[in-house]
Amino acid sequence: MQKTMKAIVKARGEYGGLEIREVAVPAVGKDDVLVKIRKNGICGTDMHIYKWDAWAQRTIKPPMILGHEFVGEIIALGENVDWLEIGQLVSGEGHVVCGHCRWCITGQQHLCRATQGIGVNRDGVFAEFAAIPANNIWICDPTIPENVLAVQDPLGNAIHTAFSFPILGEDVLITGAGPIGLMAVPVAKMAGARNIVITARRDAPLELAKKLGATRTVNVKKEKIRDVFEELNMKEGFDVGLEMSGNPEAFADMVDNMANGGKIAILGIFAEDVKLDWDKIIFRMLTLKGIYGREMYDTWYKMTALLTSGLSEHIEKTITHEFHYSDFEAGFDAMIKGEAVKVVLNW
Ligand SMILES: [Zn+2]
Ligand SMILES: [Zn+2]
Repeated sequence: MQKTMKAIVKARGEYGGLEIREVAVPAVGKDDVLVKIRKNGICGTDMHIYKWDAWAQRTIKPPMILGHEFVGEIIALGENVDWLEIGQLVSGEGHVVCGHCRWCITGQQHLCRATQGIGVNRDGVFAEFAAIPANNIWICDPTIPENVLAVQDPLGNAIHTAFSFPILGEDVLITGAGPIGLMAVPVAKMAGARNIVITARRDAPLELAKKLGATRTVNVKKEKIRDVFEELNMKEGFDVGLEMSGNPEAFADMVDNMANGGKIAILGIFAEDVKLDWDKIIFRMLTLKGIYGREMYDTWYKMTALLTSGLSEHIEKTITHEFHYSDFEAGFDAMIKGEAVKVVLNW
């Protein structure tokens, strides 16, 4: 077994600041497994770290191996790990929880307040190998394409958000057509939504949204959301909103177009303060729910079930670019320029 490995490291606290370094292969703790990485997805979180924005400056301590989206193969087991096997194809949950707080012991680990992010608060998975807590490992169905298995983290975000409220027969509004907003389209479709309307300020992602099954797309630079009600046989407004844009205006627009009693799940992270007319929330009796991460491991279970029932072919369409890991800069570039939806790096 080799002692050192290649890794993509956030080396310096500055814009970019990534380099490939030769680092030690991580030690395998007694509750960990060692995974030989095959593929990574580049996430919006990685873009924040790349751009070294205010959140990244507060949160990230370079040098640190970047990345949390992966698929790979188990090649070593910690001494306490007797339920996994060498050779298994795996991915994993990127949030490492404490395991003993009120939420962790009641099966609601996604609410744990001591959560550590892989590739955020500890070394990540953009490397030849990664040591992952065995409790975070998700055994993959090998019939699902590996590119899709590499992006289960954002797909899990989309599923957790879309399943926050019952959507069978409901009219669903998705604000924001980034990777997670787009992935939420076929998920909402499979969950039985009647109309799925998705908004953005560019046409290219909306074209993809149509291919993924959106009933109607709205480029908010050209059209108003309300203008599509009649053609969709909608009277009151949307029953369920999935906020995926992190844009305060898009969120305000969503609030304006909800039916009385509507329910909104918010995944997008707002870069600026949101100015909201709270009367609209109160007197129209709306429910707001914040979403972070995925439910452990209900989201992952449902994700595998959906992927093996037709979702895979849709998620493959969201993976627009693929690079060798040594070309990682090209991958980040494609995301910065808005050319890519999802980028996969191959090891
Ligand atoms: Zn991610
Ligand atoms: Zn906990």
